[in-house]
Amino acid sequence: MAGKRYDLVVIGSGPGGYVAAIRAAQLGLVTACVEKYPSLGGTCLNVGCIPSKALLDSSEHFEHARGGLAAHGVNVSGVTLDLARMQERKERVVRELTRGVEGLFRKNKVERVLGSGRLVGAGEVEVTGAGEPKRLATKNILIATGSKPASLPGIAYDGRRIVHSTDALALDRVPARLIVVGAGAIGLELGSVWRRLGSEVTVLEALGRIVPGTDTGSAAILQRALERQGMKFRFGVSARAASVTGEQVRVDVVPAAGGDAQVETADVLLVAVGRRPYTEGLGAAELGVKLDPRGRIDVDERYQTTVPGVFAIGDVIAGPMLAHKAEEEGIACVERIAGVAGHVSYASIPNVVYTWPELASAGLTEEEARERGLEVRVGTFPFLANGRAKAMGEKDGQVKLVADAASDRLLGAHIVGPRASDLIAELVVAMEMGASAEDVARSVHAHPTLPEAVKEAALAVAGRAIHN
Ligand SMILES: Cc1cc2nc3c(=O)[nH]c(=O)nc-3n(C[C@H](O)[C@H](O)[C@H](O)COP(=O)(O)OP(=O)(O)OC[C@H]3O[C@@H](n4cnc5c(N)ncnc54)[C@H](O)[C@@H]3O)c2cc1C
Repeated sequence: MAGKRYDLVVIGSGPGGYVAAIRAAQLGLVTACVEKYPSLGGTCLNVGCIPSKALLDSSEHFEHARGGLAAHGVNVSGVTLDLARMQERKERVVRELTRGVEGLFRKNKVERVLGSGRLVGAGEVEVTGAGEPKRLATKNILIATGSKPASLPGIAYDGRRIVHSTDALALDRVPARLIVVGAGAIGLELGSVWRRLGSEVTVLEALGRIVPGTDTGSAAILQRALERQGMKFRFGVSARAASVTGEQVRVDVVPAAGGDAQVETADVLLVAVGRRPYTEGLGAAELGVKLDPRGRIDVDERYQTTVPGVFAIGDVIAGPMLAHKAEEEGIACVERIAGVAGHVSYASIPNVVYTWPELASAGLTEEEARERGLEVRVGTFPFLANGRAKAMGEKDGQVKLVADAASDRLLGAHIVGPRASDLIAELVVAMEMGASAEDVARSVHAHPTLPEAVKEAALAVAGRAIHN
């Protein structure tokens, strides 16, 4: 029979798909990865994690140069913003990383196929939209088609004034007034970028708090810090309709519980109310792949869909929409296809909001642990009492650890503070290894470092923090 037969065809080259393809090739599977865009890396590398962090870092430099350095005795004057250059730098960061994925594909002999993939039968993927249509015959198919920004009823994106995250990463002017709908990670991160660059930012949130689902106390600390920076919050409200007149957006702001609308105006309205799984044009449902009521692909514990030989991972299935969750699932899925053991530790997936201070958490919150009927002991330690944070001029935040009262085993970690995104890694490893708070407390931490606040919080679980 003519034609190549693959062991695995991955549809989608986001962090779930491209990492799975590389791991599959490492395990000896003949692998292709189909991606409809010329640039590999999916949402994360192109319009998500990476460009947002590039702008967060750049805008942080701008803010420090404008006001934060004087306290260190560094006087800077004449600071101006070159937004075009900042955006160019972001594009370069994205380009270098997405090209890096191309290089990794070549190195690992993953065949890259440009075009839209569609399931046409068990073991067959049709690729269209880039030259001659082709059909790939394969033993296994992995759907890693990710997600797209969700929208609000009555509000249509126009890409300029009423935007989702992708457009908000590429604005060519700093909006004088920005309204953000949604106080989740994406809304707060992009709101922070534009506030630092000069926008007056108001965040509308239907619930009564920011970053729903995270530790309440840590989120409250972050909220206060963001308010001190000038970000405004309105809780219990949402946007019902929006229209553009000239250079302004008129937004109908309504109480989430129902009631009369108030009109607010802004230069840009950013809707950041979450993302929805993306399966359009995939032909999955037609083949018998079952979706849940929220449009996510149903999978079993091996990530197999309701069609044998067709698997799915990442944002397109249930669970937190995070790049590292997608990666881990991709690896576990192909390892099992290749007959190797693989699994994902869902109990300790870190979740980070990259504002300043950052908010990072993993495992159970105190509330969740108590709801499960667990008796817990909690240890907290403020960055105010950490030598390195003091030297850096960072006063905001704390480390909070939740441990099982009887066994002392770590159940959850919640950090709001400088570089919380890096600090959480130690606690993820600790939880993965089944460590107790005392294990962390007895591990030697270099002085003076931010991780000493983690050690002190672990000591505080037993009521014996030294520096607080
Ligand atoms: C602004 C923003 C910031 C974010 N920041 C973070 C962060 O800091 N940390 C974090 O963990 N997560 C972050 N995320 C979330 C993260 O980007 C996603 O969780 C992650 O990209 C999901 O990976 P995935 O592989 O499942 O899907 P995606 O990355 O969405 O990739 C799916 C790919 O499939 C392709 N595709 C879809 N259908 C087809 C088809 N039929 N044929 C061929 N190709 C197809 C798409 O073009 C896309 O390239 C952020 C998201 C946004 C929007």
